[in-house]
Amino acid sequence: MTVRTRYAPSPTGVPHVGNIRTALFDYLLARHFGGQFIVRIEDTDRQRYVPESVAGIAESLRWLGLEWDEGLDKGGPYGPYVQSERLTAYRAAADRLLAQGDAYACWCSAQRLEEVRAEQARRKQPPRYDRRCRDAAGSAAARREAEAEGHSPVVRFKTPLEGTVSLDDAIHGPLTFDLSTIDDFVLLKSDGFPVYALAYIVDDEAMRITHVLRGDEWIPSAPRHVLVYRALGVEIPVIAHLPRILGPDGAKLSKRHGATSVFEYREQGYLPDALFNFLGLIGWSLDDKTDIISREQFIERFTLDRVVKSPAVFNVDKLTWMNGVYIREMPEARLVETFTEWLDRGLPSSVARPLDRALVGRIAPLVRERVKLLSEVTGYCDFFFMDAVSPSADDLLGNAFASKPADAKAALERATDALEAVGAWTHDEIEVALRALGAQSGMKAGDLFSLVRVAVTGRRVTPPLFESMEIVGRERCIGRLRAAAALL
Ligand code: GLU
Repeated sequence: MTVRTRYAPSPTGVPHVGNIRTALFDYLLARHFGGQFIVRIEDTDRQRYVPESVAGIAESLRWLGLEWDEGLDKGGPYGPYVQSERLTAYRAAADRLLAQGDAYACWCSAQRLEEVRAEQARRKQPPRYDRRCRDAAGSAAARREAEAEGHSPVVRFKTPLEGTVSLDDAIHGPLTFDLSTIDDFVLLKSDGFPVYALAYIVDDEAMRITHVLRGDEWIPSAPRHVLVYRALGVEIPVIAHLPRILGPDGAKLSKRHGATSVFEYREQGYLPDALFNFLGLIGWSLDDKTDIISREQFIERFTLDRVVKSPAVFNVDKLTWMNGVYIREMPEARLVETFTEWLDRGLPSSVARPLDRALVGRIAPLVRERVKLLSEVTGYCDFFFMDAVSPSADDLLGNAFASKPADAKAALERATDALEAVGAWTHDEIEVALRALGAQSGMKAGDLFSLVRVAVTGRRVTPPLFESMEIVGRERCIGRLRAAAALL
């Protein structure tokens, strides 16, 4: 058997990290077994449909490196892979169920359904369709009303009034549901659009899907799905309900907890490799202790056996830590390319383009240890690229010189002299000269270095000072020290 999985997002907005975790697990399972990963667009909810989001789905998958085999721009043998283009297939399935007596047309108006619900609420009963159209007399009466009012019927499933159905979930094990609690649910709406329960089953069969992975919020709907599978005579694929994703406070992950859109993570400077690794561990583990796992290892090791049932926490601090690890471990050439891209976006337009890659190559090793998010790179490195920096007097003085600006000014002047006298402009020589100055003048080395740091870089937190000064160059360093002294 070839494993075929599908990611079936509804194009209703920006791609959510929780959905992408499902896509990732689909992808991993398919790749692990050498099967296919399919993307299907479930756009039957026309009210929530956002056309641009289809492109966003493709972009987010591509950015994360979840290449698909069928669907979206790729097409494939079992398409179309868009539900709104498959309405005839759903209609045909609904007609079969009608002909078999497993479904019936319901002519009740929205207003009547509302009244039934209100009455049930008054009696503190659970809301459900009262099955008026399930029998011939009720249906005939409702139909007359509907024809007078001009509205079309829906198709409802004729749910058995009692008994149970079971589903053997790949993660949760056997789940049994009591049918007496299940409504005569709608299969096809009056506009001809199917509901999820009909559409996904028809599509999964047509697309030869072998494994259905989806969030565990779908468990309560599972009995309806089992009924539809059975009535259509479709073999039930492997179904795995994935653990839901919670924020650190234990509530369902939402905007309240921070970014939920995959694109926001991209904007903040997370690497796709880090997000891939991080999402892969939300609900799955290799061995309960390994955190950094390569794509190849994930593919080699991923099976449903190690997916847990219990909700999993989305800990963004862990993601940020992981991102730092991935930045530190990036091959040099890719690091330089990535830093160049971010600097290109972040540096002011006064810095000449294209940026000097050789310069980025010298800077990258100094910075990679400190950067956790790529969006921080410009803030650490801008001073290498600018002609001048503009430190504030407060930053220059810091705590050490807070009430002694004249001392700071004198120190900057002496540092200027000391650095002008340095022979070869290397970080070692720069360090020797500044340490000697510190010792001679009785200043604490740390205080002197902070002063020089702010003067040369405009910032208090920077890559290693002497190495940075070597790269900035003698002339610019001295110019900046003079400019800083003039400020005080
Ligand atoms: N369209 C459904 C959703 O976005 C898909 C659920 C599934 O994967 O079957 O929630």
